[in-house]
Amino acid sequence: MSATTGFIGLGAMGLSMARNLHRAGHLNAVWNRTASKAQTLAAETGCISAADPVDLARRCEVLVLCVSADDDVLDLIATLTPALRPGQIILDCSTVAPATARKAAEQVRSCGADFLDCPVSGGVEGARQGSLVTMVGGEPATLERARPVLAAMTRQITWMGPVGAGQATKAVNQIMAAGIAAAVTEALALGAAAGLPLARVIEVVSGGAAGNWFLNQRGPTMIQDRFETGFKIALHDKDLAICQQLAADCGGDLPLVDAVRDDYAALMAAGFGDEDISALYRRKRALFGNPIPLVVKSPHAE
Ligand code: NAP
Repeated sequence: MSATTGFIGLGAMGLSMARNLHRAGHLNAVWNRTASKAQTLAAETGCISAADPVDLARRCEVLVLCVSADDDVLDLIATLTPALRPGQIILDCSTVAPATARKAAEQVRSCGADFLDCPVSGGVEGARQGSLVTMVGGEPATLERARPVLAAMTRQITWMGPVGAGQATKAVNQIMAAGIAAAVTEALALGAAAGLPLARVIEVVSGGAAGNWFLNQRGPTMIQDRFETGFKIALHDKDLAICQQLAADCGGDLPLVDAVRDDYAALMAAGFGDEDISALYRRKRALFGNPIPLVVKSPHAE
């Protein structure tokens, strides 16, 4: 299907994903809460800067959402629903709770349109390079219709089950991401305390069994005390709260997630919620009496 496609949410992920849709010839219109971002992308690509989400829905058959959190998705779905028509597809690439995906899908389907939860993984680098993976929940037939649009933004598309299954899979992903971030930052803090040459530590460890994406992508900046996003602590904390709720629903708990959220709470209280999750290194360095100077920032600082 060569569908007219609109994109909502031109943040750290969405801007690059929309650019990849444009490169594949799919992008017709964009809308962003902060209008200047949509206007800039429209000027760059020649697509339409929609007046509002309803205007976007009128112009496009497929709508891709990539916004921050559950309430943002549900607010947008409530705004869009009256404008939706049969045959349209909403692809939600935001990371939200499985229950939120099911609620959004129910509203979308009440208008005869279709919904897939298709959260993504691969970071801002993956969004730029079109090398994200996506885990999809919803009707397989809807996925087949939407596949060309998803394929323009991702390199791997995996159907996980009914609506919500994509988000549940993303929760599994986010626990692993938390554990890896905690392990890498703690290990490098020990390396720093032991006086090791950290760039060479990263080089050699990357080539062995402990090598991983986070170490490769964030290690080199972390050891320079640089934590620009990336993936905001506040967003990963939101994801980990979803993981805790899912674990409670399943009758279990997640001690690793609890510990990482304690660290994130301290970092957010100190004004670092908009830094990349590699800023966990701040907490781990402090364990060795070797803190990174704390320049406290306003959570709302640009
Ligand atoms: P971001 O840079 O903070 O961008 C968030 C986007 O959502 C912005 O365009 C923002 O608009 C928009 N938005 C927020 N609330 C909204 C609302 N109520 N109504 C309309 N638009 C709203 O976040 P991001 O890093 O791109 O992440 C977006 C989603 O992808 C999140 O669910 C995140 O968990 C997930 N994700 C992120 C990464 C990553 O590495 N960053 C990786 C995978 C998945 P404004 O421009 O007006 O603020």
